[in-house]
Amino acid sequence: MTPRPVADTVEARDPALRGVDPSVDHAIQAITGGSSVEATCSTDLAAGPWDFDARPGYGPGSSMGDVIPVGAPRQGALPAAYREADEAQLDERIRAARRTLGDRVVVLGHFYQREEVVRHADYVGDSFQLATAATEHPDAEAIVFCGVHFMAETADLLSGPDQAVILPNLAAGCSMADMADIDQVEECWEQLADVLGPLDQPDADGLVPVIPVTYMNSSAAIKGFVGRHGGIVCTSSNARTVLEWAFARGRRVLFFPDQHLGRNTAKAMGVPLERMPLWNPRQALGGNGAEDLVASRVILWHGFCSVHRRFSVAQIDQARAEHPGVRVIVHPECPMDVVDAADESGSTDYIRRAIAAATEPTVFAIGTEINLVRRLAAQYPQHEIFCLDPVVCPCSTMYRIHPGYLAWVLEELVEGRTPNRIRVQDDVAAPARVALERMLAARPTTEPPQDADRR
Ligand code: SF4
Repeated sequence: MTPRPVADTVEARDPALRGVDPSVDHAIQAITGGSSVEATCSTDLAAGPWDFDARPGYGPGSSMGDVIPVGAPRQGALPAAYREADEAQLDERIRAARRTLGDRVVVLGHFYQREEVVRHADYVGDSFQLATAATEHPDAEAIVFCGVHFMAETADLLSGPDQAVILPNLAAGCSMADMADIDQVEECWEQLADVLGPLDQPDADGLVPVIPVTYMNSSAAIKGFVGRHGGIVCTSSNARTVLEWAFARGRRVLFFPDQHLGRNTAKAMGVPLERMPLWNPRQALGGNGAEDLVASRVILWHGFCSVHRRFSVAQIDQARAEHPGVRVIVHPECPMDVVDAADESGSTDYIRRAIAAATEPTVFAIGTEINLVRRLAAQYPQHEIFCLDPVVCPCSTMYRIHPGYLAWVLEELVEGRTPNRIRVQDDVAAPARVALERMLAARPTTEPPQDADRR
């Protein structure tokens, strides 16, 4: 793969980024360079994502205003037979390939995938539920992960060495995960050591200066970094438990990549906002004074999810005005003011279970990805369920998994070939597994993560 010039990917699409250091190969440039939630959303991607695979950027959808890292995986051309087939033809090809492959293959579908893909999944769930579901099939030769890149990496970490984890479209990255670049994280760590002293030496209370915590939605390289430095992984379901684990071992937490999940969780635990500085990797000390870092409890990486950043307090106000008594539930990747204005916040699995548990017909306004909201609305017709965002703007990268790619990888497997295999290097995988194992050990007993749905 030939890396694309920065000028093609950054400045050409966002004039505000002219003059940005071209050596900084990262989407975070867009954050300070002017990309914003106002960037238009297009749903063109729903039709034929192959039209966008060869172009720079995440493509139409919620992340289209973000800047994709130079060198991000691109997908090779999908054969015309798959591009030109209609939905019914692809559906039949997928079913036929699955019949041939039988138990040799497990198909996993993320909650945010389109219905034409999810219907073929053996399991449907969030990223960690799906990665653990894969471990229940140690004899399967291949795990086809209909999600995004970091999810396939996590499945590779947890699956057997001879199992192939396959991402049907290599262009299905995640703009949030891409915002925590390993080189920038290493640089941040060095700068923190300059301010806080040796980061591996506990004080008189047995606490080290900082514990790194990464959200599941991060690359294997970041999980490996965290594992090497005494840190831990969290999900949106267990973020509070994980922060408690970290505060029992360190004076403060360095949290990445999602500033909103970190802020919302720490705020609910009583951490004052003034003790949660934001770390902008393009500025010295992340744009903070040394005294702010010394006084900090949680240092938040400057990342976000472009799907959940679209939700606003104005949308909630409108929902309440139009639907008196509406129950508003949002994902904790939403900005703090949105979480504060909602009735409840929780992971995709929390949202799903809250709706399933409602015994009376209820109006729900939901702040998360549109495909999950639509599926819940169809599944629970006794309730009125709608998405807070009036613009139907899907996750740009989840939409890369079109049924055409699923049919292609399955038929390749039938022919004895293994396309689009995702492998995590051994030197990264070992510490990344340590960070995941710490998370499992810290898992609360009050609200255990639910299993992915077996279809
Ligand atoms: S919904 Fe957000 S966090 Fe999830 S894959 Fe899409 S961009 Fe990444």
